[in-house]
Amino acid sequence: MSQNVQRACVFLDRDDTIIANESVTRHTATPGDLFDPKLVQLLPGAAEGLRILRGHGLALIVVTNQGGIAQGFGTHADVERVNTRMRELLRNQGCDVDAVYFSPYRPIRDGKHGPHGPNLQYAMEHASRKPGPGMLLQAAREHDLDLARSWMIGDARRDVEAGINAGLEASHCLLIASTKHATGGFADLLAAARHVDARLRGEA
Ligand SMILES: [Mg+2]
Repeated sequence: MSQNVQRACVFLDRDDTIIANESVTRHTATPGDLFDPKLVQLLPGAAEGLRILRGHGLALIVVTNQGGIAQGFGTHADVERVNTRMRELLRNQGCDVDAVYFSPYRPIRDGKHGPHGPNLQYAMEHASRKPGPGMLLQAAREHDLDLARSWMIGDARRDVEAGINAGLEASHCLLIASTKHATGGFADLLAAARHVDARLRGEA
Protein backbone atom coordinates (compact mmCIF):
# COMPACT_ATOMS: atom_id res chain seq x y z
CA MET A 1 0.00 0.00 0.00
CA SER A 2 1.41 3.41 -0.89
CA GLN A 3 2.13 5.71 2.00
CA ASN A 4 -0.10 8.73 2.28
CA VAL A 5 2.06 11.85 2.17
CA GLN A 6 0.46 14.87 3.77
CA ARG A 7 0.89 18.20 2.00
CA ALA A 8 2.12 21.36 3.62
CA CYS A 9 -0.23 24.29 3.14
CA VAL A 10 -0.31 28.04 3.21
CA PHE A 11 -3.50 29.27 4.84
CA LEU A 12 -4.41 32.72 3.58
CA ASP A 13 -6.73 35.37 4.84
CA ARG A 14 -8.89 36.80 2.03
CA ASP A 15 -9.82 40.43 2.75
CA ASP A 16 -6.94 42.92 2.54
CA THR A 17 -4.59 39.97 2.04
CA ILE A 18 -5.55 38.66 -1.44
CA ILE A 19 -8.31 41.09 -2.41
CA ALA A 20 -8.93 44.70 -1.44
CA ASN A 21 -11.57 45.24 1.21
CA GLU A 22 -11.22 48.47 3.12
CA SER A 23 -10.53 50.61 0.06
CA VAL A 24 -13.47 49.23 -1.92
CA THR A 25 -16.06 49.03 0.90
CA ARG A 26 -15.21 52.28 2.69
CA HIS A 27 -17.97 54.21 0.94
CA THR A 28 -20.57 51.44 0.82
CA ALA A 29 -23.39 50.84 3.30
CA THR A 30 -21.35 48.06 4.92
CA PRO A 31 -17.71 49.14 5.33
CA GLY A 32 -15.50 46.10 5.89
CA ASP A 33 -18.01 43.66 4.42
CA LEU A 34 -17.55 42.79 0.75
CA PHE A 35 -20.60 41.08 -0.73
CA ASP A 36 -20.58 42.51 -4.27
CA PRO A 37 -18.52 40.50 -6.78
CA LYS A 38 -18.24 43.60 -8.98
CA LEU A 39 -16.05 45.20 -6.28
CA VAL A 40 -13.52 42.36 -6.19
CA GLN A 41 -9.96 43.52 -6.97
CA LEU A 42 -6.78 41.54 -6.48
CA LEU A 43 -4.20 43.39 -4.40
CA PRO A 44 -0.93 44.21 -6.20
CA GLY A 45 1.48 41.29 -6.02
CA ALA A 46 -1.10 38.85 -4.61
CA ALA A 47 -1.20 36.59 -7.66
CA GLU A 48 2.59 36.63 -7.99
CA GLY A 49 2.92 35.71 -4.31
CA LEU A 50 0.55 32.78 -4.74
CA ARG A 51 2.50 31.58 -7.79
CA ILE A 52 5.72 31.61 -5.74
CA LEU A 53 4.07 29.56 -2.98
CA ARG A 54 2.59 27.14 -5.51
CA GLY A 55 6.08 26.70 -6.93
CA HIS A 56 6.99 24.90 -3.72
CA GLY A 57 4.06 22.51 -4.13
CA LEU A 58 2.22 24.00 -1.20
CA ALA A 59 -1.55 23.70 -0.90
CA LEU A 60 -3.21 27.14 -0.88
CA ILE A 61 -6.33 27.46 1.25
CA VAL A 62 -8.21 30.65 2.03
CA VAL A 63 -9.81 31.01 5.47
CA THR A 64 -11.99 34.09 5.85
CA ASN A 65 -14.28 35.45 8.58
CA GLN A 66 -17.54 36.62 7.02
CA GLY A 67 -19.41 37.75 10.10
CA GLY A 68 -21.48 40.09 7.92
CA ILE A 69 -23.66 37.03 7.35
CA ALA A 70 -24.43 36.91 11.08
CA GLN A 71 -25.17 40.62 10.95
CA GLY A 72 -27.59 40.16 8.08
CA PHE A 73 -25.55 42.25 5.63
CA GLY A 74 -25.10 39.41 3.15
CA THR A 75 -25.72 35.73 2.50
CA HIS A 76 -23.70 32.58 1.95
CA ALA A 77 -24.50 32.95 -1.76
CA ASP A 78 -23.06 36.49 -1.78
CA VAL A 79 -19.83 35.24 -0.22
CA GLU A 80 -19.65 32.38 -2.74
CA ARG A 81 -20.06 34.85 -5.62
CA VAL A 82 -17.22 37.02 -4.28
CA ASN A 83 -15.02 33.94 -3.82
CA THR A 84 -15.82 32.75 -7.34
CA ARG A 85 -14.89 36.15 -8.77
CA MET A 86 -11.63 36.19 -6.80
CA ARG A 87 -10.69 32.76 -8.15
CA GLU A 88 -11.60 33.81 -11.69
CA LEU A 89 -9.25 36.81 -11.41
CA LEU A 90 -6.53 34.59 -9.95
CA ARG A 91 -6.86 32.06 -12.76
CA ASN A 92 -6.52 34.93 -15.23
CA GLN A 93 -3.16 35.59 -13.55
CA GLY A 94 -2.06 31.98 -13.85
CA CYS A 95 -2.85 30.70 -10.37
CA ASP A 96 -5.69 29.55 -8.16
CA VAL A 97 -6.26 28.38 -4.62
CA ASP A 98 -7.37 24.88 -3.64
CA ALA A 99 -10.33 25.89 -1.52
CA VAL A 100 -11.98 28.78 0.29
CA TYR A 101 -13.45 28.30 3.77
CA PHE A 102 -15.53 31.01 5.41
CA SER A 103 -17.07 31.44 8.84
CA PRO A 104 -20.50 33.12 8.91
CA TYR A 105 -20.44 33.56 12.70
CA ARG A 106 -20.06 36.76 14.68
CA PRO A 107 -21.37 37.76 18.09
CA ILE A 108 -23.58 40.84 17.72
CA ARG A 109 -22.44 43.00 20.63
CA ASP A 110 -22.48 46.37 18.89
CA GLY A 111 -26.07 46.28 17.68
CA LYS A 112 -24.94 46.67 14.06
CA HIS A 113 -27.04 44.61 11.71
CA GLY A 114 -28.82 44.69 8.37
CA PRO A 115 -32.35 46.00 7.72
CA HIS A 116 -33.92 42.62 8.47
CA GLY A 117 -32.01 42.18 11.74
CA PRO A 118 -29.18 39.82 12.59
CA ASN A 119 -29.15 36.21 11.44
CA LEU A 120 -29.56 34.66 14.88
CA GLN A 121 -28.44 31.24 13.68
CA TYR A 122 -24.92 32.68 13.33
CA ALA A 123 -24.93 35.54 15.85
CA MET A 124 -22.50 33.91 18.25
CA GLU A 125 -18.84 33.17 18.86
CA HIS A 126 -17.70 29.98 17.13
CA ALA A 127 -14.55 27.88 16.84
CA SER A 128 -14.51 28.47 13.08
CA ARG A 129 -14.28 32.23 13.51
CA LYS A 130 -10.66 33.40 13.61
CA PRO A 131 -8.79 33.54 15.98
CA GLY A 132 -10.46 30.16 16.47
CA PRO A 133 -8.65 27.38 14.59
CA GLY A 134 -11.80 25.66 13.28
CA MET A 135 -11.47 26.43 9.58
CA LEU A 136 -7.79 25.44 9.51
CA LEU A 137 -8.46 22.18 11.34
CA GLN A 138 -11.38 21.32 9.05
CA ALA A 139 -9.25 22.04 5.98
CA ALA A 140 -6.42 19.90 7.40
CA ARG A 141 -8.83 16.96 7.71
CA GLU A 142 -10.45 17.45 4.31
CA HIS A 143 -7.23 18.11 2.37
CA ASP A 144 -4.86 15.84 4.32
CA LEU A 145 -2.54 18.68 5.35
CA ASP A 146 0.58 18.58 7.49
CA LEU A 147 0.00 21.42 9.95
CA ALA A 148 3.53 21.16 11.38
CA ARG A 149 4.93 22.26 8.02
CA SER A 150 2.14 24.72 7.17
CA TRP A 151 2.00 28.51 7.15
CA MET A 152 -0.52 31.28 7.76
CA ILE A 153 -0.51 34.71 6.09
CA GLY A 154 -2.96 37.47 7.01
CA ASP A 155 -3.28 41.16 7.78
CA ALA A 156 -4.84 40.92 11.26
CA ARG A 157 -3.60 39.64 14.59
CA ARG A 158 -6.47 37.17 14.67
CA ASP A 159 -5.12 35.55 11.48
CA VAL A 160 -1.78 34.91 13.16
CA GLU A 161 -3.54 33.74 16.32
CA ALA A 162 -5.73 31.32 14.36
CA GLY A 163 -2.59 29.76 12.92
CA ILE A 164 -0.98 29.41 16.33
CA ASN A 165 -4.23 28.04 17.78
CA ALA A 166 -4.26 25.41 15.00
CA GLY A 167 -0.79 24.29 16.05
CA LEU A 168 1.31 26.04 13.40
CA GLU A 169 4.80 27.17 14.31
CA ALA A 170 4.71 30.80 15.44
CA SER A 171 7.47 31.68 12.97
CA HIS A 172 5.23 30.30 10.20
CA CYS A 173 2.42 32.76 10.98
CA LEU A 174 3.13 35.93 9.03
CA LEU A 175 1.44 39.28 9.53
CA ILE A 176 1.31 41.64 6.57
CA ALA A 177 0.72 45.37 6.69
CA SER A 178 -2.54 46.68 5.33
CA THR A 179 -4.47 49.89 5.43
CA LYS A 180 -6.26 48.95 8.65
CA HIS A 181 -3.70 46.94 10.58
CA ALA A 182 -0.38 48.53 9.65
CA THR A 183 1.60 46.50 12.16
CA GLY A 184 2.66 43.69 9.87
CA GLY A 185 6.26 42.75 9.35
CA PHE A 186 5.71 42.22 5.63
CA ALA A 187 4.49 44.83 3.19
CA ASP A 188 2.07 42.52 1.41
CA LEU A 189 1.35 38.95 0.39
CA LEU A 190 4.18 39.02 -2.15
CA ALA A 191 6.73 40.01 0.50
CA ALA A 192 5.46 37.28 2.83
CA ALA A 193 5.59 34.72 0.01
CA ARG A 194 9.20 35.70 -0.75
CA HIS A 195 10.01 35.11 2.93
CA VAL A 196 8.42 31.63 2.80
CA ASP A 197 10.35 30.97 -0.41
CA ALA A 198 13.64 31.97 1.25
CA ARG A 199 12.89 29.87 4.34
CA LEU A 200 12.08 26.80 2.25
CA ARG A 201 15.28 27.27 0.27
CA GLY A 202 17.17 27.50 3.56
CA GLU A 203 18.20 31.09 2.91
CA ALA A 204 16.47 32.79 5.81
MG1 LIG B 1 -8.06 40.56 6.48
